[in-house]
Amino acid sequence: MKVTDHLKKRKHTLFSFEILPPLKGKGIDAIFEGIDPLMEFNPPFINVTYHREEYMYKKQADNLLKKVSIRKRPGTVGICAAIINRYHVDAVPHLICGGFTRDETENALIDLQFLGIDNVLALRGDPIKTERSFVPEKNGHQYAVELIEQIVRMNKGIYLHEEIENKEHAQFCIGAAGYPEKHYESMNMKTDLKHLKTKVDAGAEYVTTQMFFDNKKYFIFLEHCKAAGINVPIIPGLKPITKLRHIAFLPKTFFIDLPDDLADGLMACKTDAEVEKVGVEWTIRQSQELVEAGAPCIHYYTMGKSDAVKQIAKEAF
Ligand code: FAD
Repeated sequence: MKVTDHLKKRKHTLFSFEILPPLKGKGIDAIFEGIDPLMEFNPPFINVTYHREEYMYKKQADNLLKKVSIRKRPGTVGICAAIINRYHVDAVPHLICGGFTRDETENALIDLQFLGIDNVLALRGDPIKTERSFVPEKNGHQYAVELIEQIVRMNKGIYLHEEIENKEHAQFCIGAAGYPEKHYESMNMKTDLKHLKTKVDAGAEYVTTQMFFDNKKYFIFLEHCKAAGINVPIIPGLKPITKLRHIAFLPKTFFIDLPDDLADGLMACKTDAEVEKVGVEWTIRQSQELVEAGAPCIHYYTMGKSDAVKQIAKEAF
């Protein structure tokens, strides 16, 4: 079932979360261990992120540098199929432009169709560590909107190579990313919203936001979206801070600010356990306020750890 259908028939705020494929070499059990404790909160769908391969240059015995692939997280599509099979809920694979040609994208979408997966979160992806800015593949997409356009064409039965006959119409429900604190490359919020509107006009049927820690920013974002003519559901994304290293890592990586009260609480922490207590309590309050405000769904960034999200869901759902 499509994410938008779940949102339409909901009687209350839905609970959902995203998981990361494990690093290459780890089994599916690690994924199930992360999901099992959260199933009592009835997520109607679970997102599975997609990660590009990273490369590094390793010196060889002859002193020449060799490009080697590191930190592979393959398996997004397979994990989606495993989730559907084991939990009987919908899976939302993330599909990115980075590293994909248009043909490879089409093949990935065909695989999803064959598996009966009719949801996709369409994203551009970030530059890999060796790139200063995002570089699309040759014959790939530069922006998420182009990926959305390709999926919409498949939904109309238009595939890349015209000689294909008896075309099946795909049925993908497409989500896109939104940024209550602006995407870091955008000149300003107005430009970012203009680009978000382009994605919605192209066919994105809902938006899932980047994490934020100040609900005011989400509520203002909703107003700005409305004023810009963006009228699709906007799912807030929340991430509990659970580690001392998150304090510097999250703002630096996701270009988000921590509000003063939260920052003060975190500055007094000396251990991960203390951080987790502050972070979880903060996300509980955020979640309760969003539920009260009638958010369509809350999307939790688990980053592979379900304990904190479980504590939050117990209080907020
Ligand atoms: P876009 O919508 O293409 O926007 C990228 C930038 O370009 C923005 O600044 C935008 O304003 C600008 N822009 C857009 N269109 C134009 C245009 N026509 N001309 C000029 N500028 C333009 N990354 C992963 O690698 N894997 C994941 O699984 C993943 N999941 C995510 C899930 C969520 C909910 C979110 C919020 C992000 C996720 N990301 C993921 C990160 C995302 O890929 C990055 O934030 C990326 O930098 C931007 O992706 P986007 O889809 O928002 O890009």
